[in-house]
Amino acid sequence: MAFFFKKKKFDKAKAAERKKRAKLREVTKCRFCREKADEIDYKDLVSLQRLVTGQGKHLSRKRSGNCARHQRLSMAALKHARYMALMPFCG
Ligand SMILES: [Zn+2]
Repeated sequence: MAFFFKKKKFDKAKAAERKKRAKLREVTKCRFCREKADEIDYKDLVSLQRLVTGQGKHLSRKRSGNCARHQRLSMAALKHARYMALMPFCG
């Protein structure tokens, strides 16, 4: 009767792949957290350049991979850098 409720076989390869992905996600957390940075320097233009688009817009958390705290800090650093004319204003 319940022939269409086929029980799925446990796939070892798929399980290993899932485990691998979980590990990968753990490694790729916020880059500032990995460096254990307490503050983001507004004069550090190399790291600020990585957080903006070609137009100078700030990247979203999803794209930059920052955690909430470091996203806030990076926004403050970027604004400070803009006031000091180190980074461009966009729009
Ligand atoms: Zn972080």
